[in-house]
Amino acid sequence: MSGRYLVTGGAGFVGSHLVAALLDRGDKCVVLDNYSTGHRGGVLPDAHAIELDLVDVAALDRVLADGPWDAVFHFAALSLVGESMREPMRYLGDNYGNGVRLVDACVRHGVNRFVLSSTAALFGRPTTPRLDEESPIEPVSPYGESKWLIERALAWADRIHGLRYATLRYFNAAGSDPAGRLGEAHNPETHLIPLVIDTALARRPELVVFGNDYDTPDGTCIRDYVHVADLADAHLLALTQLDRGSVAYNLGNGGGASVMEVIRSVERVSGLQVPYRITGRRAGDPAILVADPGRIVRETGWSPRFAALDDIVRTAFAWRSAHPFGYDNSDTKPASPA
Ligand code: UDP
Repeated sequence: MSGRYLVTGGAGFVGSHLVAALLDRGDKCVVLDNYSTGHRGGVLPDAHAIELDLVDVAALDRVLADGPWDAVFHFAALSLVGESMREPMRYLGDNYGNGVRLVDACVRHGVNRFVLSSTAALFGRPTTPRLDEESPIEPVSPYGESKWLIERALAWADRIHGLRYATLRYFNAAGSDPAGRLGEAHNPETHLIPLVIDTALARRPELVVFGNDYDTPDGTCIRDYVHVADLADAHLLALTQLDRGSVAYNLGNGGGASVMEVIRSVERVSGLQVPYRITGRRAGDPAILVADPGRIVRETGWSPRFAALDDIVRTAFAWRSAHPFGYDNSDTKPASPA
């Protein structure tokens, strides 16, 4: 039986891919987005898009009153760690404020299933090689803190109002829709894989590598890149767990790739050279961030389809080389040199 879902931030990178997964299995989907970072072209035509800012509680109430909703997925958020270090109150205020307003509205309108797009950034500095759900939570950025605060608000909404929730802590979301409908387009782009691809395509003169003196085999930072379509699958699987209670899952492949390995992967996949230059470390970057995804694998059978880095990069390369301007000309100009 098909369902009906509300997706905030459904025009953004991960949200748009979740919308695709819902539509592909025959569900109905309403997208809320203020398009501050999302793209109109990122909303597939079969979704019903409503332009709305979550500060507008009256508008949110009107949407939620038009139920019933099988669940609300909450992606809408500011999401750059570095930016949050420069604008902490904006991140805490916007992300936490919008999250709490949405949770409150869900409770008032009888929505009882909620899925939060959360982040590995709430773990802070890793003390073990792979982070599981029991790893100490100690955000080292306002971005991570803002997501943790929403997780706490959800815990209270569950305890007091019976709202069941899944909180999904993504490691490094990457790749793009295998069917080629959607991709990753931030403006400005700061994420490694799109930047390396743009460099391979000579849209940027060189990739700047932020430090090669970390305690890793090649000295560059290691991250757990996880395909955005696999993340979307994980959201659907997490929903199936809510009948037995709320859940938290760490979402990564359980293996890492260094910055240099990402460069080599893009070179293999594209057949092009990636000129790069080593510079100093970027503030706030831990040497290694890798997930232990054991819990979601055990509990839901989640099995990533794009676990290999080259497979992730291949989908990202296909979309980015076909969309030099992102979703449309007004959204994204070709990246300017770093
Ligand atoms: N990185 C880099 N050069 C860039 C962008 C990123 O060396 O131009 C590195 C960054 O320091 C980190 C990794 O690539 O170690 C992934 O960074 P990204 O911003 O994609 O994701 P994050 O791990 O910060 O969420």
